[in-house]
Amino acid sequence: MDACLFCQIANRERPVKMVYEDEQSVAFEDINPKAPVHILIVPRQHLATILDATQADDRLLGHLLLVANLIAKQIGIAERGFRLVINCNSEGGQAVFHLHLHLLGGRPLSWHPA
Ligand code: AMP
Ligand code: ZN
Repeated sequence: MDACLFCQIANRERPVKMVYEDEQSVAFEDINPKAPVHILIVPRQHLATILDATQADDRLLGHLLLVANLIAKQIGIAERGFRLVINCNSEGGQAVFHLHLHLLGGRPLSWHPA
């Protein structure tokens, strides 16, 4: 998946503001932030959408949620609160077809999922 933007970012072939890295995942600041905190948590493994995950990926999916947990605590928004979002396919608003979690926070978030 050489042409995949988030594979390239995970491989350090494109510059981003990286905030976290481990063997299974990377996390970096969204280039077009929708909130004061807008971090993308991305598995190194290329899965185009959440629909491409299988039982074999259950630990990876759990890991991504725990990375969000860790980052929220590290950057000091855990107590105030935050939101995790996964967009899927066209009507879900997915633009980059490599699975990622949005970690949003740093201001009160209203519930307007659009
Ligand atoms: P989604 O609509 O869920 O696929 O979200 C894709 C996100 O990737 C958007 O919030 C974009 O702003 C973000 N994005 C696209 N290109 C880059 C990039 N080069 N570096 C960081 N974030 C990016
Ligand atoms: Zn990819």
